[in-house]
Amino acid sequence: MSDLEELKQAINLFAKERDWEQFHNAKDLALAISIEASELNQLFLWKSAEDVNIQKLKEELADVINYSLLLASKLELDVKEIVLEKIKKNAEKYPIDKAKGSAKKYNEL
Ligand SMILES: [Mg+2]
Repeated sequence: MSDLEELKQAINLFAKERDWEQFHNAKDLALAISIEASELNQLFLWKSAEDVNIQKLKEELADVINYSLLLASKLELDVKEIVLEKIKKNAEKYPIDKAKGSAKKYNEL
């Protein structure tokens, strides 16, 4: 079993054991990802990046990933496939010769 599949099974089992699958529709999982991303952002609010609490960062990042895995499961999406597809798409939007060392958005390159 891949590491990714192991993670998906673990978070799905966690939800199943608590009978929480009934709450996990795509809309609410998407909202949960956004809320957890905000909690991650909140750790950086009013401080410099190096002052962030790394333990709390790990926990909020894990929350984002866990809800992302639940959403992917709900929609029967292949996480590896969609992530690699998006990297490929981004590589086309951000060709190395134009984007290397630049923080500009693709439409400004
Ligand atoms: Mg959280």
